[in-house]
Amino acid sequence: MEHAQAVVIGAGFGGLGASLGLAESGWRVRLFEALRYPGGCASTFTKGQDRFETGATLFAGLGSDGLFGRWLQQHHQKLQVTFPDPVVELRRAEGSLLVDASRDAFIARLCAIPGAPSHQIHRWFALQSKVADALWPVLADPDRLLPLDARGIRWHLSRLPRYGVVLPLVGRSLGDVMRSHGIHDFEPLRTWLNATCQITIQCSADQADAVMALATADYFFRDAGHVHGGIGHLAQRMLTVLDELGAEVSMADPVGALTWLPDERLWLVTSRRHEVKTPIVVANLLPSALAGLLDSPTASLDKLARRVAHSWGACMLYLAVDPQAVQRVDAHHLELIDDTTTPLDQGNHIFCSISAIDEVERCADDSRTITVSTHIPLPAGRLPERSFVEEVQANMWRTLRRRAPELAAGVRRKWQASPRTWQRFTRRPHGRVGGPPRHAGLGAYLTMVNKPIEPGLWLVGDSIFPGQSTLATWLGGRKLAGRLARDTKRSPRLLAATQDDTCS
Ligand SMILES: Cc1cc2nc3c(=O)[nH]c(=O)nc-3n(C[C@H](O)[C@H](O)[C@H](O)COP(=O)(O)OP(=O)(O)OC[C@H]3O[C@@H](n4cnc5c(N)ncnc54)[C@H](O)[C@@H]3O)c2cc1C
Repeated sequence: MEHAQAVVIGAGFGGLGASLGLAESGWRVRLFEALRYPGGCASTFTKGQDRFETGATLFAGLGSDGLFGRWLQQHHQKLQVTFPDPVVELRRAEGSLLVDASRDAFIARLCAIPGAPSHQIHRWFALQSKVADALWPVLADPDRLLPLDARGIRWHLSRLPRYGVVLPLVGRSLGDVMRSHGIHDFEPLRTWLNATCQITIQCSADQADAVMALATADYFFRDAGHVHGGIGHLAQRMLTVLDELGAEVSMADPVGALTWLPDERLWLVTSRRHEVKTPIVVANLLPSALAGLLDSPTASLDKLARRVAHSWGACMLYLAVDPQAVQRVDAHHLELIDDTTTPLDQGNHIFCSISAIDEVERCADDSRTITVSTHIPLPAGRLPERSFVEEVQANMWRTLRRRAPELAAGVRRKWQASPRTWQRFTRRPHGRVGGPPRHAGLGAYLTMVNKPIEPGLWLVGDSIFPGQSTLATWLGGRKLAGRLARDTKRSPRLLAATQDDTCS
């Protein structure tokens, strides 16, 4: 029987953030991952001789002052990152719209479109930038998330005047705010906002919580980065640092059961190859997946599972294309929309991320890789019908052929993935990915504090606030680690349970 001060289940970015936060605080951590490689939805996998991004492709926090950037410097880890500008090219029947890395450049581009309502566009972005400036820095430090300690309280109090702009927006939808600012009828901006809401907070602008949507619209203007060779390199760097900090990492070792031992007040974690006793378990899992590991699931898990029940699945195309088919030499990202008047899911809207020409490790030949994704709705409690998945994949190909015919014509090798594939690889039940949509209303604000499921049992990941992106899940994991390290110092029982002589 082995012992650990904390066990983390899953090396997605939520689990990596929690493991690193605890290991950096001096805890003896044990991390279990079912796959042979880390990163989960934000990983890089090999298929044949090609290396593809699994899901996530464009990342916040990688700049030198971002959370990832600072962490890499602190641990002397190098990562080659490029910050594309334009960040994204949005192609639809109405034309191509480049989205610049600078908000001002993007505003100028929008205002130059014939018939653009320049005054309203400026007013809109004045509001958007104020909301983003108020909220985006919260993502730069876990201590700024709830529950706050004295330092976090001081930080928020010092910024109180900035939050004034946020209050009148609480409970409203982004679509409503767009209408009141006179920009809802301006198609290029409406389409961009719709597409951005879909990929960041998982719903349309008309459904989206205005505050979260205005803040996350800054995603493109805050050093959105592409990792040379794949995001898997960042996840691997994190495993390297965990190893240096003395954490035990068991890859290809899925956890199959979690049992509470009431006499010892410890959890017994049973994986394929190990049995570990620990006072703290951090599960980087969907609530329903955690429920499947427990003897008797709790009411709080059921409640969390109901929230996630509205989240999406993803259909994917993984393509290796002739380099001649790609116009630019650097990595770039295309959003392709077949019809801007219908919902941006089910292959009508696809996000395509193309590797740079010098990412030679991607393919054995000179091909460039493309990861293509779209949202697919999932029925309650089961996988979608195969015929529906095939229809969505056919829509993805149609949108690719119509909006990027040069890429479609250059395909050398192709693979497809569906919610079933996501379920098989990431073990996310029914392939639910991306976290619950942030719909307008007060619901999004009631779930901002992570609470334990049972004594010593916690969830992290994109089903838990702030969730929904690689950076946000990592931040959530680090926040929990900071809380646990602090609480342990305060609680003699927990301290005793986590000390070496108890757990050796
Ligand atoms: C198609 C797609 C595109 C996206 N694009 C972006 C993007 O461009 N930028 C961005 O920032 N975010 C993006 N996201 C969102 C982001 O990838 C996710 O929100 C985030 O990576 C989720 O991390 P997580 O830690 O919550 O979970 P996961 O990534 O699902 O990690 C969970 C881990 O736990 C492991 N596991 C599961 N069960 C067990 C078990 N029993 N035992 C041991 N291990 C287990 C899994 O193998 C997995 O590695 C995208 C997501 C998708 C699906």
